Amino acid sequence: MNKGMLIVFSAPSGCGKGTMIKEICKHGNYYCSVSATTRDARKGEVDGVNYYFMSDEEFEQKIRENAFLEYAGYCKHYYGTLLSEVDDYLEKGTDVILEIEVQGAMKVMEKRPEAVSVFVVPPSINELRRRLKKRGTETDEVIEERVSEASGEIALSEKYDYVIVNDALEDAVNDFFAIMRAEKLKAEFSGDIINEVLKNA
Ligand code: 5GP
Repeated sequence: MNKGMLIVFSAPSGCGKGTMIKEICKHGNYYCSVSATTRDARKGEVDGVNYYFMSDEEFEQKIRENAFLEYAGYCKHYYGTLLSEVDDYLEKGTDVILEIEVQGAMKVMEKRPEAVSVFVVPPSINELRRRLKKRGTETDEVIEERVSEASGEIALSEKYDYVIVNDALEDAVNDFFAIMRAEKLKAEFSGDIINEVLKNA
């Protein structure tokens, strides 16, 4: 059986990434890795579902145990992808999506060159600010911090395999599926198909 595909999915916060992922998972068969973080849970977020919420000490313990595929500091907190959220799924043939910021994404691309990386951008920085304000989960100060972080992140988008502009949600999701479809048709993933074609030859 073919291994699952590892998908690195990055977007500055406020790009509609959460909504995109929800739509993607509704229409496709993906496992979204649950990350560990030291930031506080937002209203409605559930431990073990949205994130594994940890103290700094717990997170640093996991670093020492080499439990992370990657981790990074973002807006004064740690965020990291646990290996246990990735490799078992890939082995079983499930495609795994890592929704992570750029520093972590670069580390994954280095460690797992076969990963497919996708970067989502907003139509403009002003639109990004407007979306973050509308969400109403952060103070103005945090919003400006995130907008400035976003501008730096967008500058790194050229390091990714693909860039999607999230203007209209449906178009952005369709772009994502087009990328996945093309990646699946790559000859290197065609082992199962070729075996079937050559069966009883
Ligand atoms: P938020 O606090 O808005 O949930 O996430 C902030 C940023 O951290 C987002 O860009 C998100 O993609 C990123 N992030 C979430 N999980 C991880 C992770 O496991 N590793 C890294 N490097 N970034 C992550």
